[in-house]
Amino acid sequence: MLEKFTHSPRVAYFSMEIALRNEIPTYAGGLGVLAGDMVRSAADLMLPMVAISLVSRAGYFRQKIDEQGHQVELPDFWQPELWAKPLDAKVAVTIEGRLVWIGAWLYLVEGLSGGKQPVLLLDTDLNENSPEDRELTHYLYGGDSTYRLKQEIVLGIGGVRLLQALGFTIFHYHMNEGHSALLGVELLHRYAYPLEELRAGEPHYDIPRVREMCSFTTHTPVEAGHDRFDYALVNRVFDNTFDLLTIRHLAGEDSLNMTCLALNLSEYVNGVAKSHADISNKMFPGYQVHAITNGVHPLTWAADSFRELYNTRIPGWHHEPELLIRAECCISDEAIWQAHQQAKTALIEQIFDLTGARFDLNIPILSFARRMTAYKRPDMLFTDMERLKRIARQYPFQIVMSGKAHPSDEGGKALIAELHGYANQLAGIIPTVYLPNYNLDIAHGVVAGSDVWLNTPLRPYEASGTSGMKAAINGVPSLSVLDGWWIEGCIEGITGWAIGNMISSNGSDAIALYDKLEQVVLPLYYHQDASRWIKVMKYAISKNASYFNSHRMMRRYLIEAYTR
Ligand SMILES: *Cc1c(COP(=O)(O)O)cnc(C)c1O
Repeated sequence: MLEKFTHSPRVAYFSMEIALRNEIPTYAGGLGVLAGDMVRSAADLMLPMVAISLVSRAGYFRQKIDEQGHQVELPDFWQPELWAKPLDAKVAVTIEGRLVWIGAWLYLVEGLSGGKQPVLLLDTDLNENSPEDRELTHYLYGGDSTYRLKQEIVLGIGGVRLLQALGFTIFHYHMNEGHSALLGVELLHRYAYPLEELRAGEPHYDIPRVREMCSFTTHTPVEAGHDRFDYALVNRVFDNTFDLLTIRHLAGEDSLNMTCLALNLSEYVNGVAKSHADISNKMFPGYQVHAITNGVHPLTWAADSFRELYNTRIPGWHHEPELLIRAECCISDEAIWQAHQQAKTALIEQIFDLTGARFDLNIPILSFARRMTAYKRPDMLFTDMERLKRIARQYPFQIVMSGKAHPSDEGGKALIAELHGYANQLAGIIPTVYLPNYNLDIAHGVVAGSDVWLNTPLRPYEASGTSGMKAAINGVPSLSVLDGWWIEGCIEGITGWAIGNMISSNGSDAIALYDKLEQVVLPLYYHQDASRWIKVMKYAISKNASYFNSHRMMRRYLIEAYTR
């Protein structure tokens, strides 16, 4: 089953989460969607990769919203046997002094021209394991730090061992975020100097050799966002055949910092947008952090209507999305508008199916959908309800929101309840809906069917953001705070609009948002010369979708990180 993948060397791409398809809930949000898009591009471009993640049988969680607008979290079990093939190989890792066995499922990502990428989903739910260990690969980002450390042992150490057991030859390892950094520890072990060659006082491990084989992508500009484990916990859980002194040296003296470990074991390190790389360089003095700005998979994120349009007007676009630069001149205004209204009609149906609300095709839809957490400030639009209503009286619009909060993020969950309160207050004045259980399907509908894609993060916390790129593929302009990718993507009034400037604060951003909506964005939408609005839609495609796509990102990783 694997022969066609094991006969020549490949890049191993490790990610705690990966969004393969809507039916497989092994992702929480942007990080997992990015991982999925990365592998989809690798399949299209027929690059030699293999992705490693956890099977997460209980998924992240399924979100329900109760009568009071509170998030309810339900397990989201899926059946790997319906989508993936079980592999025979099994490997073991040592956790708390006992062996934990790991098997895997093979999922195949198929590219357009027949390229295929194997994805290995690691699974500890095996008869050999105790009931407790069988659940180690059930809950994505679930449990306490002990559970998390065990998962990271399964992913990093188990993943490397499983690749070897399956006969893969790996020429480069890519850690997508620090969760998989223990793969470097396993490689240190594998390439340790033979004991008989050691001399007193010399290192056991060939660190330069391991570094040469590894790349690391960091995804958060916040110190607190990096995984850390107490050494007391590490001592108790971790395999004691590893040299803990060396690990301390590489991962930090106070606690095992996965970002620190990944930085020290990777020759190539990058952030996910230019400004994020700048921040990371300040946060990690002594390391060189490059920038590879994220991208999204063009075909995956284009609505059916835009796929058809591009297929006829810009043939070859899905292999070379650079060609979308031609959208400006090669597609008529009418064709763009028709494709958009078709995507919008589909979204309006989706909204009706999910909420029973009837949205109007002829009134602009303003959308905010992403992880619900404090720094994203999903409540900014509702800062001044009177002003919001005044704007809507002059220029009617409709609002769509969606997003999950991590179960332990109390602030994020409170925001969801608050948003439901605002939606109730606006009933009869501004149609406002909250679509429960944000997932790939909802994202696909809402990024394509909206008229304006809103993003209001508190600078500089948005490392990149990718949903605005998905919108751009469908000609949907962003109205966003200048953070993450939007610093690179925003050409004011051309590809979309900035909220405020590079100096932002809570109070001034909200005013800037209202001003821009009232004075620029909505008047343009309602302008009697429709070509003005459509021009912005076209520029979103030609200037942003042509660049912020995962084909460009994948090619850059290949050249600048993997085959440097
Ligand atoms: C793209 C996507 C995200 C990330 O959205 P951002 O606005 O970049 O934070 C999260 N969840 C889903 C389901 C997505 O498709």
